[in-house]
Amino acid sequence: MNDIPKKPEKPKIEASSETQSPATEEGAPELPPVPDHIEPSIHTQIHKLDIDPAYKEKALERVINIIKGNKFDIEKVKLANFEGEIIQFPATTTLKITTKQSHKKMPGRIRGPTAVENQQGLKVALAKEYAKMESDPDLIRQITDAAISREDKCFAQQNLVIQLPFWKKDFVWFEGCESCRATGKTKCQRCGGKGVDACGRCSGTGTCACSQCRGAQMIQGPQGGKVQCPTCHGRGRMGCVLCSQTGRVNCPICRTKGFTQCPVCKGHGWSSNIEIVEIEARADFTYPKEELPDKIVALIEEYGAKIDGHAKITIVHLPDDPESLKEREEKKTEEQKRKDQLESKTFMVEINYEVLLPHGHVEYDIGGESYYAFMFGYKGEVVHSSPFLEEIIRNGIRKLDDALDGRGDIAENLRMAAEYRTLRDVILCAARLPLVKAIAVIKERNSIGIKDETINDLVLKADKAIKKITNKPRVYGMLAGSAAAAGLFALYFLGPLHALVEQKAKNPALTGLADFACLGVGIYLTVLFMQKFAAGAVRKAMTGIIKPENARKMTPKLGSKGLLAFVVVAALFLGIIETSRHTGANTPLWYKSVIAKIVK
Ligand SMILES: [Zn+2]
Ligand SMILES: [Zn+2]
Ligand SMILES: [Zn+2]
Ligand SMILES: [Zn+2]
Repeated sequence: MNDIPKKPEKPKIEASSETQSPATEEGAPELPPVPDHIEPSIHTQIHKLDIDPAYKEKALERVINIIKGNKFDIEKVKLANFEGEIIQFPATTTLKITTKQSHKKMPGRIRGPTAVENQQGLKVALAKEYAKMESDPDLIRQITDAAISREDKCFAQQNLVIQLPFWKKDFVWFEGCESCRATGKTKCQRCGGKGVDACGRCSGTGTCACSQCRGAQMIQGPQGGKVQCPTCHGRGRMGCVLCSQTGRVNCPICRTKGFTQCPVCKGHGWSSNIEIVEIEARADFTYPKEELPDKIVALIEEYGAKIDGHAKITIVHLPDDPESLKEREEKKTEEQKRKDQLESKTFMVEINYEVLLPHGHVEYDIGGESYYAFMFGYKGEVVHSSPFLEEIIRNGIRKLDDALDGRGDIAENLRMAAEYRTLRDVILCAARLPLVKAIAVIKERNSIGIKDETINDLVLKADKAIKKITNKPRVYGMLAGSAAAAGLFALYFLGPLHALVEQKAKNPALTGLADFACLGVGIYLTVLFMQKFAAGAVRKAMTGIIKPENARKMTPKLGSKGLLAFVVVAALFLGIIETSRHTGANTPLWYKSVIAKIVK
């Protein structure tokens, strides 16, 4: 474990033959040992560590797996050269902590939140809280935990915003109501503050016109003459009952108080300005881009956090570790310290990572030809390889072309192409799967050594070739099927069957239904024949390519010939019925009525 230098001074580029750790039982290269001491990542430090010699075996294994079954002697596949190393570099995610505020105004003096004088007081209190954060190890720990408990550990995350709900502060300052001068009351609009209102019934006079004589003092007497109004005794007016003759009523709005509740402060006289302050973190990821090889940078940009698994990412020196804080402070240059002071307004939490990423340039010797590839990560991914596979299956591709262009027997050519594992996959997937799916499957199984365009092209070719095989059988199937259908129709309409049905059913609609059921059976027969014939042809062509139990599952598509079959059978159906009209057989009633309409 410890034979990797603790401070690798001399970068080793070549994978030397000295063994550092043995391969595991499965033969897979073991994860290289992680140095037990890693320098703090203040200055960019890129180390190059020796790679496990077993690592390059994986490169050979990958290529052999792809070549296997492609009529190529795998003894001729060799690793000509491997130049690899484990690159070790620091990376940092800086979490910039920012506050976000929300304001709300509530009536009354709210208790609970921290009280401040005013808006200015809030600013001061807030700055104090913010300054306190930096020296709060619990908070720093919580922020760090929130960041590294994420699945991506915040690694390679740019402009990510992390919510930090565990920190929240409420502030309040009070404001006297301007509208009511902090009294909570306003003069009643209705009564002008008097508390009483002129009586609406008597207009404030205390009396109203008499309800019987309406103020006329006299009413109609029994002999046509006028008599004194008995209700008001000839006065014409009566005391107002609503205001008990006072002419005033209590104000219905303020109920004699003369004032109403201030609508602005809802009677509180004061309102509370509540400021809710929360924090969030903005992540900024940095790593020594300029100093790393282009291919490594490209991988990190492409994979992002998903590089974890290919690379070993270790979190080092948690920021709340007092040892590391001290150590870091001591390591800082004067310039950095000055800069820190200037930036003291921003509270930042750093998460430091050490990244170990094995990679290498591979040169293969495949049958005397040199091919190159790039290998990376602990899973031993091989990428950017030259198209060696296309070269190996070239003769098979030629057979597929022959099948497509009709040179020789299509099935025979397909069979010969299928002797290559990759092309067998192509033919089977094209026969069974929708094309997009087929292409995806082939790409997954042949991840290197063949260009994507070549795979697309091969799948399309195989699909066309298979369709060609079923072309004739589909026509034969249609002929056989429609002959069978015609036989059925003749038996039904020209023989005694139809008359029998008509007699038994005693219902023209029911008989018509039976007639069309007969047409349905005819069409079904034809489709069945076509599918049987086509499937037979595919199965025959696939002998030796496909396992017999899988062959039964293949149901070739009928294409436009399916529609043609429908038309042909329907024509036969009508033709036989028409014949029945001339041979004296039992012609269906519905047909007769249609003919009668046409003749008219
Ligand atoms: Zn008010
Ligand atoms: Zn009032
Ligand atoms: Zn009144
Ligand atoms: Zn009266």
